[in-house]
Amino acid sequence: MSKTGAKEGSAVRPETAFSLLGNETRFGILKALWEISEPLASKPVSYSNLMDEVGVRDSGNFNYHLGKLEGHFVRSLEDGYELTAAGEQIVQTVVAGTGVEHPSMEEQHVGVVCAVCGGTETTVQYDDEILLLRCTECPGSYPTPPGKLAAFQIPPAGLTDRTPREVFEVGITRVALKTQSMIEGICPTCSMEPTIDVKLYDEHMDHDEPAEFEDTMWAIAYYGCPRCKLTWRFPTWTTVMWHPAVISFFYQRMPDVDPLSWEYFVRGREFDQELVSEDPIRIAITVRYEGDALQLTYDESMSVVDIDPEPL
Ligand SMILES: [Zn+2]
Ligand SMILES: [Zn+2]
Repeated sequence: MSKTGAKEGSAVRPETAFSLLGNETRFGILKALWEISEPLASKPVSYSNLMDEVGVRDSGNFNYHLGKLEGHFVRSLEDGYELTAAGEQIVQTVVAGTGVEHPSMEEQHVGVVCAVCGGTETTVQYDDEILLLRCTECPGSYPTPPGKLAAFQIPPAGLTDRTPREVFEVGITRVALKTQSMIEGICPTCSMEPTIDVKLYDEHMDHDEPAEFEDTMWAIAYYGCPRCKLTWRFPTWTTVMWHPAVISFFYQRMPDVDPLSWEYFVRGREFDQELVSEDPIRIAITVRYEGDALQLTYDESMSVVDIDPEPL
C-alpha cells in the first residue's frame, strides 16, 4: 500500500498491457465499446450487440478474448459491458493519433512574432507529430534546424479543420496547460507528482541550449515525472508567466491578449531576472508594462515566495 492507501499490486504491468492489446479481436472489442457508447450516457453494451459489432462468430473465441480484457480494460456489469478508464484512455490515444488523412504540413509562412528578432518572417511545418516554428531572418533560439524558435508535440487530430496559424496556437496552448499542471504538482500524462529542480549556471551552457536566451538562461527549471518519464526543462521565467499574479497584471493592461497565446508568451523575453540568493535559491523576476512593474521571487522548487507589490 502507498501512503494514500492505493493498492499497488492491482495495477496492470506494462508487459501484460502490451500482450493484452496485441491482438486484433481484443482491440476490436475495445474499439467497438468505444464506438457504440454515447459519451455521458453510461449505458453498457449488451453481449450480443458487442459480438455483432466486433464481427466474431465463434462465441468461444469471443468469450476468451473478452475474458482477457475484463478487469483491466473492460468492466462487466449486470446488463452488459463498458470500458474502464484505462480502456477508454487506450482507445482515445489511438484515435487521437490516427484517422487524419494528411498528418504532415509543408513549411509555410505563419507571420507570428519572432521571440528573438521581433520580425514576423516566421514559418511552421508539421511532421512526425511535431510542429516546428522557425524564423527565416535570424538564428532563432536553437541551433538546429536554423532559425528554430519552438517545437510542439501535437497529435494528428489537432490539425483537423485548422489553419496553420491555429495549429500553432494549439501547440503553445497545450504547453501552457501542461506546464500549469506540472507546477501544480500533477504530471499531465500520468498524474504522479513530478520532481522540480532549479539549477543555476555560471556561464552559457552546452551547445544545444537556446543561444539567444543567454541573458535569461542561467536559471533552468527541470521537471521530471518519476513514473512516466515525462521530462522538461525551461528557463524559469517561462513558468512564472502563468502565475495568477502575472496573468492578472497583463490582463489589466492588455486585456485582448490571451495568456495561452504566443503573443503573451513572447513577452517573457522582456522580463528582468535577478539572483537574490544562491543558498537557498531565491530568484526575482520583474515583469514590466510601460511604467508599471511586478516582481515575483521564487525558490528552488519554483514556488513563489514573495510578490511585490502584493496584489490588491
Ligand atoms: Zn527572428
Ligand atoms: Zn507522469
